Amino acid sequence: MIIAIDGPAGSGKSTVAKIIASKRGLLYIDTGAMYRALTLKAIRNGLDLSDSKSILSMTKDTSLELKPASSGIRVFLDGKDVSDAIRTPEVTNKIFYVADDPQVREIMVVLQRKIAGRQDSILEGRDITSVVFPDAESKFYIDASFEERCKRRWQDFKNKGMDISLEQVKKDLAERDYRDKNRPVGALKMVSGAVYIDTSNLTIDEVVDKILSVITLAQDARQ
Ligand code: C5P
Repeated sequence: MIIAIDGPAGSGKSTVAKIIASKRGLLYIDTGAMYRALTLKAIRNGLDLSDSKSILSMTKDTSLELKPASSGIRVFLDGKDVSDAIRTPEVTNKIFYVADDPQVREIMVVLQRKIAGRQDSILEGRDITSVVFPDAESKFYIDASFEERCKRRWQDFKNKGMDISLEQVKKDLAERDYRDKNRPVGALKMVSGAVYIDTSNLTIDEVVDKILSVITLAQDARQ
């Protein structure tokens, strides 16, 4: 079984995907973490991120693993745990160099399909319902208003003790939304057959319940 979830940054999709994975015994696959890890490696190696040739050869020479943990997953880059290091604003703001590259994306898509092929999985990202698993049993587009997503992101930074203004968060998120929706390959979009959920005024439990009821209906229909 494959559950595919897409949506913009701050829509709440990773929070609910983790909960559903643990409730249903699914493997949780955070595909954004994979693009983040590649970006981190490029920065650490001092690569010119705009040089697509070296980014591609680095990608081919990289091992990425997602290991289930009580917090959701831990991300291993070339055997080292980088779960926290991939969440910095620097990585987030530079990720488009890697994520915009069609050849890098192709490698990531193959890897994502391979990992999900091992057991029932829930994947979340930007191109899961459109490219990675267009035939998934259940597909979702999780959204929230721009204001709400910015507030959530800002709160996340504050919780981590990071000093960043709401204005800066808005600027960065608007830019990332634009790039995520306009990249040549794997752009974020709502596909037909996906269930749209606006989480702006919903609690986490309400979103989880909605998704679970759709999954259950899809399972019943298949039996
Ligand atoms: O999900 P998260 O916000 O961690 O993803 C970080 C970035 O990785 C996204 O803004 C997007 O540019 C890229 N991404 C992607 N395709 C995916 C998942 C993430 O291009 N499937």
